[in-house]
Amino acid sequence: MGPILEARAVVKELVGPQEPVRAVDGVDLVIQRGEFVAITGPSGSGKSTLLYLLGALDRPTKGEVLVDGISTNGLAETKLAGLRNAKIGFVFQFHFLLPELTAVDNVAMPMMVGGMGSAAARKRAGELLEKVELGHRAQHRPHELSGGQQQRVAIARALANDPLVLLGDELTGNLDTKNGDLVYGWLRAQNRERGQTIVIVTHNLELAAHADRVIELVDGKVAGLA
Ligand code: ADP
Ligand code: MG
Repeated sequence: MGPILEARAVVKELVGPQEPVRAVDGVDLVIQRGEFVAITGPSGSGKSTLLYLLGALDRPTKGEVLVDGISTNGLAETKLAGLRNAKIGFVFQFHFLLPELTAVDNVAMPMMVGGMGSAAARKRAGELLEKVELGHRAQHRPHELSGGQQQRVAIARALANDPLVLLGDELTGNLDTKNGDLVYGWLRAQNRERGQTIVIVTHNLELAAHADRVIELVDGKVAGLA
C-alpha cells in the first residue's frame, strides 16, 4: 500500500511585505492510507500552507511532496491538476463554490471535469447531497444557502470523485457543536466505509482528539514527532 502523502524536508517561503515568510520550515511527515489525521497549531503556524502543499495545490520552495508515491515537483501544471482531481478532495476554509451554479451542479462539476457524462454526474451529485442532508436544497445557488449548508455542499463536492484523500481546512471552524459533530461523523464514516484518508486542519482540540493522530505545527515546524 505505502504512504498516500509524504512531505520530505518541505520548506515554503511566501513573499511578505518586508522579508519572505517561511510559512513551512522543514516539515517531514508520512500519512498512511486510511489514516485520519488532525493538524493543529496556533494561528499563523503554517497549517493552511502545509495543507495546500499536501494537496498539490502549491509546490514547495524546497523539499518534496509525494502524493500516492508521485513527487509533485516534477509534474507539469496540467498533470498536477489531473492528479488533484482524481485523488484529492479539498474543502477550503472559504468554500469557493461557483456562485452561478446550483448546489447539484457544483457537486457534479469535478465529475464532469473527470469525464463523466452530465446526467450520471448530476445523479451522483444528488446522492452526495442527500448524504450531507441537503437533498432538498439541490437546486439552490450558494447565496441561497446558509454558511453551514454551503460548507456541506463543499464537502459533497470534495467527495465527488471518491478521492483517496480528503483534505479539510478549518472545516468545523464556523459550525456550532451539533453541525461540527455531524461533519465529523460523515468524515469518520467515509474513513471507515471507503477507507478514505482524512487530513483536517482544526483548532478545535475536541475534534482533533477524535483523530487517529494529531500533528501539531509551531512556527512552520512539526512539534514533537509527526
Ligand atoms: P495557519 O493556517 O496556521 O493560520 P498559514 O499557513 O495561513 O497559517 O500562514 C503561515 C504564515 O505565512 C503566517 O505567518 C502568514 O502570515 C503567512 N502567510 C500566509 N499566506 C501568505 C501569503 N499569501 N503571503 C505572505 N505570507 C503569507
Ligand atoms: Mg489557516
